Amino acid sequence: MDKKAVDQVVSVLANSRNTIVVTGAGISTEAGIPDFRGADGIYRKLGENKVMNIININAFNRDPEGFYEFYRQYFVFPPSEPGKAHRVLSDMEKKGRVKGIVTQNIDSLHERAGSRKVIAIHGTADRYVCRNRGCKEVYGDEYVNSCEGIVPFCEKCGSILKPDVVLFGENIKNYVEARDMIMGAQVLLVIGSSLTVYPLAGFVKEFSAFYQDLIIINKGRTQLDHAALVKIDGGHTGDTLEEINRQMDLRGY
Ligand code: NAD
Ligand code: ZN
Repeated sequence: MDKKAVDQVVSVLANSRNTIVVTGAGISTEAGIPDFRGADGIYRKLGENKVMNIININAFNRDPEGFYEFYRQYFVFPPSEPGKAHRVLSDMEKKGRVKGIVTQNIDSLHERAGSRKVIAIHGTADRYVCRNRGCKEVYGDEYVNSCEGIVPFCEKCGSILKPDVVLFGENIKNYVEARDMIMGAQVLLVIGSSLTVYPLAGFVKEFSAFYQDLIIINKGRTQLDHAALVKIDGGHTGDTLEEINRQMDLRGY
């Protein structure tokens, strides 16, 4: 572990009244959910274009069967529990060291770890919503898995169900709230994101143009490494966060 970088992060966080965390798929790999852009990710295996062409709202509307076949094969996550990194962030929120999280993840692991102020801009994978605007009934995994056939339908009105995740071609959820939370931060801590997916990457870029206090913990390069006050690359992210939190406990911050 890079002790010097950890010390630097501790002193930056200690002086912050409003630390906001931005997380991407990399925070959940240690909890057993693969990312897309990492070495074994599906973007490497299948190519980004193929994924974008299917995990797309137009493809969903045109060919729900084709969509669901692909989606069920590649997008349904293995059962998992929050990892150490999720748990530490939840503890840091309780201690007032973190004020909120904006996440691109759809795995609900922050919420399940006990974090309360979470904006999940890409939605939630274990929820499905009826496409009929007059109905909008919400279902969980259990119902969808019990449906016959590959495409799940609403029990109430018979319309098709869509995973409550943001597909390519759709707007993110809580755009204004997410941007406000990030732009209002004093310190922004980015964890496990390559900062290539917009608009979130754009919010972080905008933040870094006005303020200096950007910290990045990510394996591999990100689009904003040059703008970071501290970059921690490598090691076990859960352990790194645990050490940061422990140092803050010890020093009474
Ligand atoms: P991304 O672009 O944010 O990349 C993830 C980054 O995390 C990569 O740079 C990778 O090297 C890094 N990383 C991997 N393991 C790490 C670790 N242990 N510690 C620190 N960094 C680590 O995300 P993506 O994989 O390109 O996914 C794109 C989108 O797909 C996401 O925004 C999300 O909506 C969705 N997605 C969600 C999940 C999830 O909910 N867990 C998983 C995969 C993809
Ligand atoms: Zn319905």
